[in-house]
Amino acid sequence: MDQVRQRAARDQKRLDSGQVTNPKDLENLQSEIASLAKRQGDLEDVVLEVMERHESAAERAAELAQRVEAVEAKSGDAVARRDEAVREIDAEAARVREERESAAGSLPADLLKLYEKIREQQGGVGAARLFRRRCEGCQLELNITELNEVRESPEDAVVRCENCRRILVRTPESGL
Ligand SMILES: [Zn+2]
Repeated sequence: MDQVRQRAARDQKRLDSGQVTNPKDLENLQSEIASLAKRQGDLEDVVLEVMERHESAAERAAELAQRVEAVEAKSGDAVARRDEAVREIDAEAARVREERESAAGSLPADLLKLYEKIREQQGGVGAARLFRRRCEGCQLELNITELNEVRESPEDAVVRCENCRRILVRTPESGL
C-alpha cells in the first residue's frame, strides 16, 4: 500500500512540475494516477475488511473462552457432587455391612448357614417377609394348608416358602 501511495505521489509531483508537456504522456500520467487512486481505495477496503474480521474473530474467541470457563465450572461442580455421593454411598455401605455382621453374629450358626445357602441359590435374597399371606421373595400367596402350617409352627421355628424355599419372616402383618 505504501508503494502504491509513493508511486502516486511521484506521478503527481511530475504532473505538477509541468515538465511533462507531451499530451500523450500527460494523458498516460493522469490515467496512471487515477488507477493508482483506485488501487489505493481497493487496498484500504481490504484492510478494513481484514480488521473487521479480526475484530469479530477476537469477539468469538472471547465468547468461546467464556463458555469453556462455564463448562469447566459446571464439570468441577459435577465432580464434587459425584465425589460427595460416592462418600455417602461408601459410608452407608460400611454401616450396612456393620449391621449385617452384628445381626449375623447374633444368629445361630446353622440358621446362618441355611440362610447363606438359600441366598446363593435365590439371587442374593435368602429370607423374605411374609406379608398379607404373600411371600415377598417370590410374590406368591400361600395357600390355606401352607398358612396353617406356618401358623402352627412354634415362634422360633424356621419356616420356609414352599415355592421359592426362602426363609419366611413372620410379622404382625403376615395375615396369619
Ligand atoms: Zn416364596
